[in-house]
Amino acid sequence: MRILVVEDEPKIGRVLLEGLEAEQFAVDLAVDGESGLELATQVEYDAIILDLNLPRLDGFTVLQRIRKQRLQVPVLILSARADAADRVRGLNMGADDYLRKPFSFDELVARVHALLRRPHQLLDSLSVADLEIDRIRHVVTRAGKPIPLTQREYALLVEYLMRNAGRPVTRTMVVEHVWNLGFEGLTNIVDVYINYLRGKVDSGFNKNLIHTVRGIGYVLADHDADMAATAQCSVPAHGAADLDLRSAQLVAGA
Ligand code: CA
Repeated sequence: MRILVVEDEPKIGRVLLEGLEAEQFAVDLAVDGESGLELATQVEYDAIILDLNLPRLDGFTVLQRIRKQRLQVPVLILSARADAADRVRGLNMGADDYLRKPFSFDELVARVHALLRRPHQLLDSLSVADLEIDRIRHVVTRAGKPIPLTQREYALLVEYLMRNAGRPVTRTMVVEHVWNLGFEGLTNIVDVYINYLRGKVDSGFNKNLIHTVRGIGYVLADHDADMAATAQCSVPAHGAADLDLRSAQLVAGA
């Protein structure tokens, strides 16, 4: 997976470059909008992380030109601009996600993985262990037993946790995708709904599928299967070298 980072702040650029490489991504760094746009049009990237306040060409213009050329690459805007208007403008212009600075590296990585969702996660039926979902008929079953869900529970479980199965998602990500951009409440609402889901999806079964990831949020995963997959993989997903990066909260500006 190849990622383009367009970021003029040297400290943030370096953290992104090193951190994403530690996550096994190939990363290119452009330090102004013009060279960012040039790379984006010449190289086939799997995702672009785009700052807004950039020398030579601002991020909005870069995004606009990328979409004008019909490049479908997912774009995550990473900006210190806090205005809801900027966020809405970016998403309307074709950005796929928007993360505000200062940000946590864990949150960024979780969002990048969400952008890189594999095609099989868009299929009409999804399953994790014995939990199965029919997205056409909106039917959820566990071990063949139907599980009735409210609309919000369904959106949280199917459209978010299932689609990101095996990848931790943060409370903020869930709120933004399952509620909506205008939602002003607390991210605690996510914990409340996760508890509802646990009561329906996990309780009464011998294996829990919804797990808490400390310091991040939640993941829907069949941990027995994941352990087997990890054992076969010689490179751990989260290397020790990037631990300090992953826990660091970046405080630099745009
Ligand atoms: Ca900047």
